[in-house]
Amino acid sequence: MNGNLAELPLYWKAPYQTTLITEIIDIKENNVALKQTIFYPGGGGQPCDEGILEFRNGESSEEFRIISTYKEDGKIWHKLGHKGNSLSPGQQVLLKLDWEKRYSLMRAHTAQHLFSHFIKKKFDCETLKANFEPFTIDIEVDKELSAENVFEVLSDVNLAISKNSKVNSIIISQEEYQQKYRNKIRGKDSKEDIVRLIEIEEIDDLVCCGGTHVDNLLEIQGIILQELKHNKIKLLIGEHGLSYANKQRDYVIQLEKITTKKNDKLISVIKNRFEDYIRVNDALVETLSLIFKNIKQSTEAVKNLNYTNLKLQNVNRETIINSIKSIPPGVFITLLGYNNILYFISTSDVSSADVVKKLQETNNYKGGGNQKFAQIKLEETEKIEEIEKKIRQIVENLQPS
Ligand SMILES: [Zn+2]
Repeated sequence: MNGNLAELPLYWKAPYQTTLITEIIDIKENNVALKQTIFYPGGGGQPCDEGILEFRNGESSEEFRIISTYKEDGKIWHKLGHKGNSLSPGQQVLLKLDWEKRYSLMRAHTAQHLFSHFIKKKFDCETLKANFEPFTIDIEVDKELSAENVFEVLSDVNLAISKNSKVNSIIISQEEYQQKYRNKIRGKDSKEDIVRLIEIEEIDDLVCCGGTHVDNLLEIQGIILQELKHNKIKLLIGEHGLSYANKQRDYVIQLEKITTKKNDKLISVIKNRFEDYIRVNDALVETLSLIFKNIKQSTEAVKNLNYTNLKLQNVNRETIINSIKSIPPGVFITLLGYNNILYFISTSDVSSADVVKKLQETNNYKGGGNQKFAQIKLEETEKIEEIEKKIRQIVENLQPS
C-alpha cells in the first residue's frame, strides 16, 4: 500500500458496494488489472473475491468469470475464467461481485474479531491463526481450552452481537497511528504507511486489519461451536450455525430413541451447543422487543396511527413474531428484514393484509398475511424508498378521513 489516501481500495471505503464501472489498465494472459476495484485480493485469512467482469462493445457484450483476485507488483489482478481476446487496456468494463460469498465472509471475519477479543479477555489466550470460509471460521489459539471455556467465550460473543453495535473502519497515516493508537491495539502491529484499523464500538476492540467487515454486529446473527480439537476451534455463523444445531438436536433425539444406555457426555455437549444458539435467538428477540417497545419515539403520525419504516437486514420472521407483543397499540410498521423480505406489522385498525393487497395491484409481489402481520418478497433491484413512499400513501388512504 502506498501513501496516497485517494487511491485507497474501494473494498475498504465501500465494502457494501457490489458493482463498479472501471477501466482496464493492464493485461497479462488472462489476468486483468483495473483502474479501481471492489474485489478483495485475499489476505489475513480471508479468501479473495470472485465475480463477473462484463465488457460491452456497442450492442454486444461479453462476460468473463473472475475466478480469483490477487496482489502482485503493486497491482490487484483479476484472473479470468477464459482468455479475453476482445479485451485491451483503456476499455471500460463492469465488475459484479459474488456478494453472497463476500457478505458471508464479512460476517465470519467480524465474528472472528469478536471471538479473539473475548478469548483474550477471558483466558488471556492469543489467536495465532484464523481462516475463513463462507459461514465458517477456523481459529488456532495459543492454549488448549475446555469446551466449557469456549462456550463461556461464545456466550459473551453472542451477547455482544445482540447489542446492535457499530463496527468502524479507521484509515490513518503511520504517524497518526503511532501517536494515537499504537498502545491501544490488540494483536499484530502495522508498519504500513497507511494503517487500517477496525474498531468494534461496544467492546472497544481495535485491530490493524485490511479485510472486509460488516457495519453492525447484529448482521452476524450469532456464532456456534462446531468442533474443538486441542487448540483448534471451528465456528459456524448465523443461519448455518442454526441449521447445524437443528441437525444435532435431531441427531440427539434419534440417539435417545435407539440407545438404551445413553451417551450422556455426547448428549450434553450437543445440548449445550443447541442451547447456545437458542441464547443468541433470545438475545435477538430481546433487542427487537426493545426497539418495538420504544417505537413511538421514531414514528410519524399518519392520520390516526403512528407509522414508521425499519431496516434490520438480519431479522427474520420468527424473531419478529416473537417480538410483536411489545408494540404499543395504534402503530403500523414496515420492516425490511433478512433476505430482502418486507414485513408489515400493524397494531392499528389498518390491516397489514389489506396494505399488501393494495400494493400487489401495482406490482406482482409474492406474499400475503393477516390483519396484524404480512410479508412480501422484494427483488434485489427494487428501491425500498420508493416502495415505502407507496406504502405510506396506501396506509393513509385506507383510513377514514
Ligand atoms: Zn479484520
